[in-house]
Order: sequence, then C-alpha cells, then structure tokens
Amino acid sequence: MLRALSIFRLKCPKCSKGDLFEKQGLFRFTKILEMPESCANCGQKYEIEPGFWIGSLWTSYPLIIIIELPFLICALVVESIHPFWFFGGMILAFTLLYPVMLRLGRSIWIHLNIRAEKK
Ligand SMILES: [Zn+2]
Repeated sequence: MLRALSIFRLKCPKCSKGDLFEKQGLFRFTKILEMPESCANCGQKYEIEPGFWIGSLWTSYPLIIIIELPFLICALVVESIHPFWFFGGMILAFTLLYPVMLRLGRSIWIHLNIRAEKK
C-alpha cells in the first residue's frame, strides 16, 4: 500500500520521501520530465543506467490504453452519437492527461526497478 502511495505521490522508490521530479504534481504542463539526478533524502540515483527511462514506455503504454480504450469502445458500440465525438474525446483526454501518463509511467518504472529500503 505504501509503495502504491509512493508511486502516485511521485516519491523516491527507495525511501518514499524524496521527490522524483523537480516540480511536484501529476498535472504539470511545463517541465514535465525534469528530475533531479538523485534523491535529496537518501541519495538514490534515479537514472540508474544510460537509457533507463526508455523502459518507462512499457509502463506508459498501458496507462494510455486504460485512458483511451473506453472512448474507442464507445465509438464502436454507441450508435446514437457520431464516432467523431469519441475520437475527439480521445484526443482531448490524451492532450489533458499526457503529463499524468508520462510521470506515472516513469514513477511505476523506477518503482519496479529499485527496491524500497527496509525499515
Ligand atoms: Zn530517497
């Protein structure tokens, strides 16, 4: 449970206290991916190897699917509303939620790769 909180609060995977990003919050539209090199609290390095963040695409894609799939299903199933509106909804949802997808994707990825310290 604490681990899930740490993911959603964008905290360090090791100590759950230091911030993962320079500017906190899921809904940021500037400096979305700016991160400190290491945790201010425990010193855990965030980019543990070159290209580490490329792997976070594996955790961002499922988030995109979770957000976009209901629109696609509605576009295919609901006949009383033109599908154009659902595709517009997909674009709008993606535009508004892409910081959430990117930041949560990175947070999940680093939490999968770095263990929490024992307390
Ligand atoms: Zn830390």
